[in-house]
Amino acid sequence: MGKTQIGELFLKDRVLRLPSPWPERFRVAISERHLRLLITSLIVLFLLVLGSALLIQLMESRTTHVAEQNRLSSIHGQLAAQHIKTSFAEASAEGRTAPVMNTDYLRAILPPDALTEKRVFAIAESLGRITVSLPLAERLDGLLITSVLSPNFVTDATMNSGEMSPLLLASGEEAFVAMYDLGEFPGSLIVYQRQKDVLGAWRSSVTQVTTLFVVTLLVLMLLGAAFHWQATKAAEADSILGVATARLDKALDRGQCGMWDWEVARGVIFWSRSMFEILGMPVKGDFLSFAEVASRIHPSDTQLESAVESLLEGHITSFDREFRMRHEDGHWVWLRARAALAPGETEDQPHLIGIVFDISQQKLADRLNKEAELRLMDAVENISEAFVLWDSDNRLVLCNSKYQQFHSLPASVCVPGTAYEDVVRSAKEPAIRKRVGLTKGDKSEGRSSEVQLADRRWLQINERRTKDGGFVSVGTDITALKLQEERLLLSERELMMTVRDLQKERLLADQQQQRLADLADKYAREKTRAEAANRSKSEFLANMSHELRTPLNAIIGFSEIMQAQMFGPMGSEKYSEYSSDIHRSGQFLLDVINDILDMSKIEAGRMQMEPEMLQVDFVVDEVMRLVGPRAYEGRVTIERDVPQGLTLWADKRAFKQVLINLLSNAVKFTPEGGKVTISAREKDGAMAIAITDTGIGIPQRDIEKLGRPFEQVENQFTKSKGGSGLGLAISKSFVELHNGTLTIKSMIGQGTDVTVKFPQKAA
Ligand code: ADP
Repeated sequence: MGKTQIGELFLKDRVLRLPSPWPERFRVAISERHLRLLITSLIVLFLLVLGSALLIQLMESRTTHVAEQNRLSSIHGQLAAQHIKTSFAEASAEGRTAPVMNTDYLRAILPPDALTEKRVFAIAESLGRITVSLPLAERLDGLLITSVLSPNFVTDATMNSGEMSPLLLASGEEAFVAMYDLGEFPGSLIVYQRQKDVLGAWRSSVTQVTTLFVVTLLVLMLLGAAFHWQATKAAEADSILGVATARLDKALDRGQCGMWDWEVARGVIFWSRSMFEILGMPVKGDFLSFAEVASRIHPSDTQLESAVESLLEGHITSFDREFRMRHEDGHWVWLRARAALAPGETEDQPHLIGIVFDISQQKLADRLNKEAELRLMDAVENISEAFVLWDSDNRLVLCNSKYQQFHSLPASVCVPGTAYEDVVRSAKEPAIRKRVGLTKGDKSEGRSSEVQLADRRWLQINERRTKDGGFVSVGTDITALKLQEERLLLSERELMMTVRDLQKERLLADQQQQRLADLADKYAREKTRAEAANRSKSEFLANMSHELRTPLNAIIGFSEIMQAQMFGPMGSEKYSEYSSDIHRSGQFLLDVINDILDMSKIEAGRMQMEPEMLQVDFVVDEVMRLVGPRAYEGRVTIERDVPQGLTLWADKRAFKQVLINLLSNAVKFTPEGGKVTISAREKDGAMAIAITDTGIGIPQRDIEKLGRPFEQVENQFTKSKGGSGLGLAISKSFVELHNGTLTIKSMIGQGTDVTVKFPQKAA
C-alpha cells in the first residue's frame, strides 16, 4: 500500500456504526426463543389442519364409497332381476321350460365382479325360503329370509324400491339390503352387503392415510425436537460466549489493557470495552473509525504511523510501539501497542490484531526513577567525600568527580560498566605515606582505613558491601580532624596536668574544710557559751535593776518630800535646789534602769504582750500629759491629729511606751520654736501613727543603725539632753512584737518622721 493510500486510510472517516455483535447475539437469542415457540405452534397448527382435512376427506370418501358400493350392488341386483324376468317371460312366451333356478344359473347371470366385496345374492321363493344363494360360503340355501334379514324387512317399503337400504341382519350386523321382484318367477332376488364389507376398501385407504399422517406427525415432531435442541445449544453457546466475553472484558480491564482489531480495508477498528475505559470514553458500540482513533494520538508519536505502514508493506510482520493517546478529560495516556497482521475474510482485507497496555503508571514510575537517579547523582556529586559504587561483577555503577580527582582518573574510565581492574589500571595510586586499618574482623562486612597522602593530607576510606554483592567506598578528607585530634591530645595532656594541680588544691581545700569544721565547732561552742553569758547578763540586769529600783524609789520619794518641805523648811535655798537635782537624777536613773530591764527582757524573749482593745486618742492624751511639760519647757509646740474613736488591738504599756519614746525624742531633738506633730490614720487594715518634727534630723548613713540598743547619733543634743540609746530599740522591738513596723525618714536640718504601723486585729 502506497503512502497516499495510507494517508487516505488515516483520513478516511468511514464511521460504520455497526451494531455491536455481542448485544446482537443476545438479541438473536431472544428472537430464537420466540422462533422456537412460533415453529412449535406452526407444527402443531399444521398437524391440526392436516388432521382435520384428512378427517373431513375420509368422512367424505366414506360417504362416497358407501354410495358407490350401494350403486354397484343396486346395478348388479337390477341387472340380475331383469335377466331372470326376461328369461322367464321369454320361456313362457315361447312355451319353453323355464330355466332351472340353481347356483350355476345365478353365477351365469351375474357379472363376474358382482361377487367381489362380499356381496350376497339370494333368490327366495314366494314362501320366503331361500332356494339359491351366492356365494356358497354364506350357506343361506334353505333358510327363511326372515331368519337372515330382520323380520320386518318385507313390510319395509324401501326394501322393494330396488335401492340399497341400511338394515340390521338377524345376526345383528349392519348391512345394506335391496330386494327385487322377479316378474313371472314366483319369488324375489335379495341383494345385501354387510357394512364392514362395504367399507372394507375405504378402511384400507383410511389405514394408509392415517399411517401417512402419523409418519408426517412423527417426522415433524422429530424436526421440531431437533430444532429445539439446536436452538438450546445455540442459546447455551451464546450465554457461554457472553460469559467468556464478560470475563475477557474484566480481565482486560483489570490488566489495564485493551484489545483491538483493525480492519485495514474498511478503516474500522474493533475496540474492546476496556479500551474505552482506559481513555475515559463513553462506550459507543465496539467499532471506531481509524480517523477517530488517529485524532486522539499525540502529534509527536508519528512512529506509530510509520510502523503500521511498514507492516502493511510487508517489511515487518509485527510491531511493538509506545505512544500517547488523549484521555477524554484532556490528559495524555501512555500506551504500548503490540500488533500483528492477520488474514481477513478475503486476501485483500488484512486485519491488524493487537493488544494495548496502559503504561502511564510505568512511565510515571520511570520518570520518577530517573528524577530520583538524577537527584542521587547530584547529591553524590555534591558531597564532600569521594564516592564510588561497584556492582556484584566489580563493574563501576557510579562515582563522583572527587573520586576521579582523588585517583587522577581520565573521564573515559569514569563511565558506568567499566571493570574494576580497568579503573585500577588507569588510576594513579596516591603517594601514601601511611595506611592505618581501623576495623578488624569480617572483611565481607566492610572495612575502614586511614591513609595519609604525600601532601600530608589524611583520608578515611570506608568500604562496605551492598546487598546485591557489590560494594561502596567513601573517602573522607579528615585532615582537619586529624589536626583536631593532635590538638586534643595536647590539650588532654594539659588537662591531665591541670587535673593533678586540681587534685592538690582539692587536698588543700579538704584540709581547709576540716579546719573550718573545727572552727565551726568551736564557734558553736563559743555561741552556746555566749548565749549562756547573755542569759546570765539578762538575769544579772534583771536582778540588778530590781536591786537598784528599791533604793531609787526611796531616793525619788524622799527627794520629793524634801522638795515639798513637808516636814518644815530646809533653811537654805541650796538644799531645795539639790533635792530637785536628786529627784531628777533619780527619775532619769529609774527610767534608764526600766529601759535596760525592758531591753534585756526583750532580748531574752521573756517580754510578754497582753493585747487589748485600746482607744488611740485616750492613750495619746495620757502620753501628751507626760511629754507636754517637757515640750513647754523646750518651747516646742505639739500638734495633734488623732481622730476620735480610733481603736487598736495592742498591749497598752508597750503602745504607750512607744508613743512616749518617739514623742520624747521628737521634742528632745527639736530646737526652740519648733513643731512636733502626732497623727494617726487607719489605712489598708493597719493603724499608722506618725510622729513628725521640725528638728535637727538624722544623717542618712545613721538611720540604718538606729534601732539597735545603745546606738546614738552624735549631735549637740546627745550630750546636753542625755539619753541611753535604748528608746528607739525598745520601741522597734515592741512594734515588731505586734507584727508591726517602724520606719524612720529624715533630712538633716529639716526634721524627722518616724512612723509605726500596727496591723489591725481581724474583726
Ligand atoms: P536616746 O535615749 O539617746 O534618745 P534613742 O534610742 O531614743 O536614745 O535615740 C537614739 C538616737 O537617735 C538619739 O541619740 C538621737 O541622736 C537620734 N534621734 C532619735 N530621735 C530623733 C529625732 N526625732 N530627731 C533627731 N535625732 C533623733
